Amino acid sequence: MKNSLNTIIDVKLTDITQLPVDAIVNAANKSLLGGGGVDGAIHAAAGKQLLRECRALDGCETGEAKITSGYLLPARYVIHTVGPVWRGGNHGEAELLASCYRNSLALAAEYAVKSIAFPAISCGVYGYPAGQAVRIAVDTVLAALPQYQFEQVIFVCFNETLLELYRQRHCQSARPINA
Ligand code: ADP
Repeated sequence: MKNSLNTIIDVKLTDITQLPVDAIVNAANKSLLGGGGVDGAIHAAAGKQLLRECRALDGCETGEAKITSGYLLPARYVIHTVGPVWRGGNHGEAELLASCYRNSLALAAEYAVKSIAFPAISCGVYGYPAGQAVRIAVDTVLAALPQYQFEQVIFVCFNETLLELYRQRHCQSARPINA
């Protein structure tokens, strides 16, 4: 479904490395040298050239984003962003997580990306409470979209619990999301 901004917003239960979109977002760590979770899956699927390009980036601060080629992935680009580690909620986590989404979209727009897929940043080993993280993800992306011309934004879930949370947020959101 298209929203009033002509951007399709989808929620999908899938492996983000399989998506044929212009850019997928990686929930990376500050080193940008790979790790577990979605980061490990992206590096494994993209091949060793991704690590080579990441080495030259000199890391990334929490809340910021850097872009590389997608190499063997169906996606043309990978946007690496570093989510906050959950430390109880009083350490700027919410603003840092929102920055991940905002900075990823801004970088994508610079590279003329039309379709972009986000994983649930910080919802794995970084321990962010999923309900709060989903609210920030949906609200931040919806608030940012009017300044861009994306055709499609996909929120990728790796389990049913997250899918249900995105659906709930969709019900509360001003704009409908396909799920
Ligand atoms: P973080 O360190 O930011 O918490 P993780 O990779 O541990 O990042 O987890 C972020 C989210 O990505 C979790 O919800 C996890 O289930 C999900 N995830 C892990 N692998 C994939 C994948 N291949 N595709 C999409 N999402 C994934």
